[in-house]
Amino acid sequence: MPRIFFLDTGRLHQETYDVLQQLRRHYGVAIEVYCPAAEAVEALVRRDGPNGFYEGLDQRRACCAVRKVEPLRRALRGADAWITGLRRDQAPTRRDLRTFELDAVHGGLLKINPLLDWEHPRTLAYVRHHGVPVNALHDQGFPSIGCAPCTRPVQPGEDLRAGRWWWEQPEHKECGLHVKRPVATATGGAFR
Ligand code: SF4
Repeated sequence: MPRIFFLDTGRLHQETYDVLQQLRRHYGVAIEVYCPAAEAVEALVRRDGPNGFYEGLDQRRACCAVRKVEPLRRALRGADAWITGLRRDQAPTRRDLRTFELDAVHGGLLKINPLLDWEHPRTLAYVRHHGVPVNALHDQGFPSIGCAPCTRPVQPGEDLRAGRWWWEQPEHKECGLHVKRPVATATGGAFR
C-alpha cells in the first residue's frame, strides 16, 4: 500500500497548510506529516538565529538539512521506492534526471519521477481540468513554493525557480532532498 507523506519544515506559508488540509478532505487519504527534530531546530536557531539561512550557503544548507533532509530520511525508512513530482523544466539542476533512478543517498532505493517531462503549462492545464487542489500561491506569482522566508514571487520572464533562495546562484538551488550524494556543509545534519 503506498504511503503519502508531507515534510512540514515549520516555516511554510499558511497557503501550504491550507492545501494540505484540502487534500486530506478531497481525496479522503491519510497524509503522514514529518516534522524536524525539535532539539535539532533549537540547536540550529541557537547557533545561527531564526533566519541564519540568509547569511551564507553553509547556514542555508544546515537549515535545510535539519528541516527537510533529516525528516525525509525518516519518511523513507523501510520504503522500497519513492515517487516525486520533480519536473525537468523546474531548474538547471533537474535537467539530467531520469524517470527511474537509484537513490544512492537513501540506501539505493528506487526513485520514480513520473512527471519529469511535464512542462509547467501542461501541469497547470491538468490540475485545472481535473479539479486538483493546488496551493493558492500559484495564482499569486509563485510557480515554485518552498518555505516562506526562502520563496518569493517571480517576475514575468523569470525562471520558474527564480523565487527560491533568490540570493543564491542557480546551481546551488537545491535543498538536499533530491541530490545524488549527500550535500557537504560545515555543520549540516549535525544538530541532533
Ligand atoms: S528552505 Fe529556507 S527555511 Fe526552509 S529549510 Fe531551507 S533554509 Fe530553512
